[in-house]
Amino acid sequence: MSETERVTEAEAIGTRLAELARHDRKVNRELVKALGDSGLFEPVFAADGVTAADLCATRQGLARSNTAAETAFALQGLGGTPIHLAGTESARADWVPSLRAGDVIAAFALTEPGAGSDAAALATVAERDGDGFRITGEKAYISNAPEADVYTVFASSEPGSGSRGVTAFVVPGDAEGLSGEPIDLIAPHPIGRLRFDGVFAPASSVLGEVNQGFGVAMQTLDLFRPSVGAFALGMAEAALRLAVDHARKREAFGRPIGEFQGVSHQLADVRTAIAASEHLVYTAAHAHDAGEGEALTGLAAMAKLHATETAQKAVDVAIQVLGARGLESNSLLAHLYLEVRAPRIYEGTSEIQRNIIARELLRGRI
Ligand SMILES: Cc1cc2nc3c(=O)[nH]c(=O)nc-3n(C[C@H](O)[C@H](O)[C@H](O)COP(=O)(O)OP(=O)(O)OC[C@H]3O[C@@H](n4cnc5c(N)ncnc54)[C@H](O)[C@@H]3O)c2cc1C
Repeated sequence: MSETERVTEAEAIGTRLAELARHDRKVNRELVKALGDSGLFEPVFAADGVTAADLCATRQGLARSNTAAETAFALQGLGGTPIHLAGTESARADWVPSLRAGDVIAAFALTEPGAGSDAAALATVAERDGDGFRITGEKAYISNAPEADVYTVFASSEPGSGSRGVTAFVVPGDAEGLSGEPIDLIAPHPIGRLRFDGVFAPASSVLGEVNQGFGVAMQTLDLFRPSVGAFALGMAEAALRLAVDHARKREAFGRPIGEFQGVSHQLADVRTAIAASEHLVYTAAHAHDAGEGEALTGLAAMAKLHATETAQKAVDVAIQVLGARGLESNSLLAHLYLEVRAPRIYEGTSEIQRNIIARELLRGRI
């Protein structure tokens, strides 16, 4: 299937599942199951792995029509990918089929109260216990927590060694010693805090190698970072569509407002920025899929930065063009206004993306 076909297919699935969308802060199991039934998780958990381009096209299409479905899709992929890519045979057999079917909910637990942008500064520890580990510490701002059925957890197994002493684990949501509570964000996003009180993690739950867990996190984020840009791209397109439609129909001073240059130039600037975002997102995705490791880091950072900042601008312009109507509660635009903010923060803030771009530029890689 071509990228364009995948975008169109995902947009149509999002439209079909619109009735199931809720914009509260709880995990929507019915929606995840429906996504599983639609087959959208098949490529994500395919034996030979998903391409970044396919992931981007699915996220762009879903974001155009149904951000709740988009978020549910992305979080299942983010939480499940480390298990799929780096899990032991038994861990994969335990979780991947039900993740693919949408029967269980996954989450990716890296961030801590004291470790956000500085993701290697983990205070959660994994201490040896027999041939397994005991995990103790706290995770914060974890999407799908505390309701998820399975967590990919990153913990310091060699304190003081930074990113070289992190191990990744798969931990069931009902593990003894694991508790948590929701965090109420203004974004319509299921998210929460987790506490690990000596949670036992057997050797079979280690993802990848002991002390190599940061690599598992980065491998997952390298795959997903361009697709955060694709999510933003789809939202920007949805906002622009509303604004253009309104600019054609709404009349003021005896003419459609789209005939006023003050309005039309704002739309022109957003359209141009969206085209640039689309180019950056798919350039990064193709670099990932071609194994162009050198350039990928910088390209993915540019894609995420540009697309998420553009989406914020696109939603703001759309609200301006719709006037008071753009601020009506429960409208698509009001929803996008709340939704569009968080992607500039998660999976690396805009400032961190700029740091990466600058570093890669000075190293001569982009
Ligand atoms: C909706 C949402 C969903 C999330 N889901 C998950 C999830 O599923 N799993 C997970 O593990 N985490 C998740 N997070 C957490 C997210 O990854 C972190 O919020 C993010 O990495 C930033 O960390 P922080 O919030 O602690 O900000 P901080 O790191 O404290 O940063 C605060 C400010 O300082 C700036 N800053 C920090 N360091 C630098 C620097 N070196 N140079 C310039 N500026 C700097 C930042 O850009 C930011 O503006 C989620 C967050 C949100 C909002």
